[in-house]
Amino acid sequence: MTLTEQMFESDKLNAVAVLVPLPVPAPYDYLVPEGMSLSRGDVVEVPLGSRHIMGIVWGPGRGDVDAAKLKSVAGVLSDTALPGVLCDFLAWLADYTLSQPGMVMGLALRSAAVFDAPKMRTLLRPGGTLPQRMTDARQRVMDVANDGFARTPGNLAKEAGVGTGVVKGLVETGTLLTTEVPEDAPFGTPDPDHPGPELSPDQAAVASELTASIKQQAYSATLIDGVTGSGKTEVYFEAVAEALRHDKQVLILVPEIALTIQFLDRFEARFGCRPAEWHSDLSHKERRRVWRGIANGEAKVVVGARSALFLPFPDLGLIVVDEEHEKAFKQEDGVIYHGRDMAVVRAHLGDFPVVLATATPSLETLQNVELGRFARLHLGSRHGQAVMPEVAALDLRQDKLPPGEWLSGPLIAAVDETLARGEQSLLFLNRRGYAPLTVCNACGHRMMSPESSTWLVEHRYLDRLIDHVTGFWMPKPKLCPACAAEDTLAPCGPGVERVAEEVQSRWPKARLAVMSSDVINSPAEAEELINAMASGAIDILIGTQMVAKGHNFPGLTLVGVVDADLGLKGGDLRAAERTYQLLQQVAGRAGRAEKPGRVLVQTRQPDNPVIEALIHQDRDAFIKAELSAREDAHMPPYARLAAVVLSSLDGPLVEEIASALAYAAPNGKGVDVWGPSPAPYAIVRGRHRHRFLVRADRNVNIQAFLQAWITKIAIPGKVRLKVDIDPYSFL
Ligand code: ADP
Repeated sequence: MTLTEQMFESDKLNAVAVLVPLPVPAPYDYLVPEGMSLSRGDVVEVPLGSRHIMGIVWGPGRGDVDAAKLKSVAGVLSDTALPGVLCDFLAWLADYTLSQPGMVMGLALRSAAVFDAPKMRTLLRPGGTLPQRMTDARQRVMDVANDGFARTPGNLAKEAGVGTGVVKGLVETGTLLTTEVPEDAPFGTPDPDHPGPELSPDQAAVASELTASIKQQAYSATLIDGVTGSGKTEVYFEAVAEALRHDKQVLILVPEIALTIQFLDRFEARFGCRPAEWHSDLSHKERRRVWRGIANGEAKVVVGARSALFLPFPDLGLIVVDEEHEKAFKQEDGVIYHGRDMAVVRAHLGDFPVVLATATPSLETLQNVELGRFARLHLGSRHGQAVMPEVAALDLRQDKLPPGEWLSGPLIAAVDETLARGEQSLLFLNRRGYAPLTVCNACGHRMMSPESSTWLVEHRYLDRLIDHVTGFWMPKPKLCPACAAEDTLAPCGPGVERVAEEVQSRWPKARLAVMSSDVINSPAEAEELINAMASGAIDILIGTQMVAKGHNFPGLTLVGVVDADLGLKGGDLRAAERTYQLLQQVAGRAGRAEKPGRVLVQTRQPDNPVIEALIHQDRDAFIKAELSAREDAHMPPYARLAAVVLSSLDGPLVEEIASALAYAAPNGKGVDVWGPSPAPYAIVRGRHRHRFLVRADRNVNIQAFLQAWITKIAIPGKVRLKVDIDPYSFL
């Protein structure tokens, strides 16, 4: 029982505070009708204005409204409640992110439909008696039914090749017996002792440390820091198995659920059944099934996106965060939080272990290891015969590219050789579309988005110019909008589609495919492409960051990085770190099976520390240099950051509020407030955006500082204020 539950139960007030999933700052009090007993986390129906709404009992009545004016709780759902620890977690999250508790509650109650009782369906079985009158049709039904499997009336009629009336008749005579079962398919039970692959001695050593931490059944945080292909997944599966042996539930958080098909197969191979899945693409029905399966403890292991943190696990005993360095764990809209960091908080509140796995740990995580907050387990070599690929730079200042081409002589030769050996190549460019910019050859006009301060990106497959910030698109015009010259709009720079065009014309016989979010529209399409690549049905794969995600392509021996310098520019705090992680991950796709791999990196800055670290495979030197640069600059992980973004359709008004806010900034010790300045995306969908960045020493309570600051100014309804604690996006 959590502290708050105890406080609540000792309170004898006949009113409760109920939090509704709406942007409200606090719970509202409601009277508890005679005979109803409520505790924290109970799901109740309450009147709000003219309607009824679902809410969560948050605690004892606050007493801030005269009891005579209170309305009563209308009803309580008897078969579901949020676990107290989940309520504690939500409250913690609201405080940390400075979000309204009602909004945070919305994360756990995204769909009220989860509370609907599951629909029932009728199944039929033979009852052991025969009807007085047996016809041919009836006999056919009984022949099918006698195999012992229960069937729906429709399926039974179909399999027997008769009308449903025949089946109905057999029910009426009592020959077939009906049972009502929930429509939802039951969850498989993962078997921790299902035989899995035999671990190497290194893997076994790491696995045994992990299982020891699970046996403790108390909070601990462990980083599995293992090179790509070292078998981190197999190793943390042992931790999952141990948690299952203790009859605990397990959550495995992954950055992009659409790309986890190979993962699901491996899970099934190790545990004998598929885990439950949780992500935004689930149908309503599936969402309800999984939510309830977790709430009643039937779903033991869930693989999910960050929002799975808010599922009502009654008995969670382990969270694994796979690819912990991934930016995709950061939620950027609504309640802004980092899934990895919140996983650690959730484990802490629930007093169970959390395991982070990656080949390229984030600096924040390495800092936590350094400070002794996280344990680190290391896997230094690839599993089995596989060795780490060789990495070399191709200096584009020497191997100059002809205009309109993107592959240098040595890279072309390497693809030739790889094709000749019947092996696969991967060309990586982290840029969607055909060309990032379209320029008029006559007047120099650049095609900008009318909706945001960005260039329009040409997409040839879709035949559009697209704004990647807002999604706005238009057909590519025939005439230049500025000078009206005809057919003068030319693409500038490459995207994956343009590289694919070059590959196609250079190797017309090769089987090529493009992997980017524009081509892949569903998990099924991702599965198809990944399977095609894994089975060797593709010779050359050209892709964006999507290809860098943990895939195992045994025949892939050459990785070519088309433009390694792309991510290095820009003032983003994490530009170097992120580029290093991405390039290291994509390099890690090469040579994962018996055949050795090589990685060729096209660059104009071969002595940039990121590229040097990659070539010399010296991660530690890079991390050390990057950490010391961060320390000198008083930046995370040595300090804390928060962004405050103001936006409004009314440009002058938002500017005025930004100045007022700047003027009101308190003089905090160990805190710097920078800004306001127009955001890099200064206008998005007509909204003018201004940003502040707040830097604070680690010992400063940045939330308290922000709260004291932003509440000094009355923000008009036309202006939106967004606070982002630990920002990852600076746009
Ligand atoms: P990582 O996550 O560290 O990149 P994976 O867990 O994906 O590595 O493992 C890389 C490949 O090696 C996978 O195909 C995996 O099935 C295989 N593998 C790893 N460990 C073993 C093992 N002990 N026995 C058999 N195959 C293994």
